[in-house]
Amino acid sequence: MDTADAVVIGGGVIGTAAAYYLSETGRKVTLIERNGIAAGTSSRCEGFILVNDKMPGYDARLGRLSQSLFPGLSEEIGFDIEWSPQGSLLLIESEEEMAVAEDFCGRLAAEGLAVQMLDRRRIHEIEPHLAEDIVGGMETATDGAVNPMALAQGLARAAQQRGAAIRTGAAVRDIRLTSPGKVDRIITDGPDILTPTVVNAAGIGAPEIGRMVGVEIPITPRQGQILVTERTFGLTRRKVMEFGYLMTKFEKEGYRRRVTPEMEANGVAFVLEPTGAGNFLIGSSRRFAGFDTATDPTVIRAIGERAVRFYPALARARLIRTYAGLRPYTPDHFPIISPTPVDGFFVAAGHEGNGITLSLITGKLTTQMIAGESPDIDLKPLRLDRFDSEIAHAR
Ligand SMILES: Cc1cc2nc3c(=O)[nH]c(=O)nc-3n(C[C@H](O)[C@H](O)[C@H](O)COP(=O)(O)OP(=O)(O)OC[C@H]3O[C@@H](n4cnc5c(N)ncnc54)[C@H](O)[C@@H]3O)c2cc1C
Repeated sequence: MDTADAVVIGGGVIGTAAAYYLSETGRKVTLIERNGIAAGTSSRCEGFILVNDKMPGYDARLGRLSQSLFPGLSEEIGFDIEWSPQGSLLLIESEEEMAVAEDFCGRLAAEGLAVQMLDRRRIHEIEPHLAEDIVGGMETATDGAVNPMALAQGLARAAQQRGAAIRTGAAVRDIRLTSPGKVDRIITDGPDILTPTVVNAAGIGAPEIGRMVGVEIPITPRQGQILVTERTFGLTRRKVMEFGYLMTKFEKEGYRRRVTPEMEANGVAFVLEPTGAGNFLIGSSRRFAGFDTATDPTVIRAIGERAVRFYPALARARLIRTYAGLRPYTPDHFPIISPTPVDGFFVAAGHEGNGITLSLITGKLTTQMIAGESPDIDLKPLRLDRFDSEIAHAR
């Protein structure tokens, strides 16, 4: 039997960030992961660190808090997370979108975010390969990207250097409680672990872990597919996405993009990420398909067509691979960073399409919550009990 002050379940970007910040407090931390570090959604995604897709208000503040922790991280942990700070562009397709985008941009700017609108002339000046009919853009100077696998690996290694134990290839099978509903021990494939504190950072596996202690966690896998091109130079060096992506992400009522039925049915919206190696990641789709991580020719074709609509030259880029990942979706799109009715059992999961961006602030907030310190931002909107009535209703 091992012992730990805290056990983190899950070796994705969220679990490794939690282990990194928790181990800074001098606690004896064990991270337990059933496969390898970043073997789940954190290696089946893109690496944008964005505030340009956050709703003005709490969402944007949370994103910006996390984003501000990235520029110095490689140096802090002595591991290159491939932080690339070129900013991001949202592309605007129509005058109707332009009006919505101007309002959105104004509200983000009023909160002090580094955003600005670009008119038709300016957007084509800085992005000469764009389709001619694109009417404008929104630029966010602080946005960037990382390599999510390097991020998780680097955080795990840094946690280990602070004394954390990283156990991979070992699944959590059960969690035992003392009789008054307090965490007591974790039953694993390897030695069991006696601990008073558990952080459930198991991503789409979080509901299963919750059920071990009778806590319901409303997280559902939401699939997204990605195309990878061969090394393709000269097209753009920025992270680019269509403004309509926001409409898809937040299922904006009454807004219709001019897209094919396949794009509409599969939530296809254009996202382009140049990688450090010169390849492009092209995304993406959003659909509920259970735990299926197979890619689908209809969706892949729709993503490709959507990309060519914005950058016609992409029609000549060769694809080298496709993959699908499962976003840990919650009904209100916010993550769950929260205590639960079980004493010592905490949740840090449900980041949907924002887990890479929000990883660092999640690690910090989780640590502050466990240590009883005042959090960097109000945790009320992230509490699990905000879903109490939905969970009761579903029973
Ligand atoms: C196509 C796509 C594109 C995306 N692009 C972006 C982006 O550009 N920017 C962004 O911010 N976010 C993006 N995301 C979202 C982001 O990838 C996720 O929010 C994030 O990876 C979730 O991290 P996680 O650590 O919660 O989950 P995971 O990475 O899935 O980690 C959870 C881990 O828990 C482990 N686990 C589960 N059950 C057990 C058990 N019983 N015992 C032990 N271990 C267990 C799993 O093996 C897994 O490794 C994207 C997602 C997709 C699908």
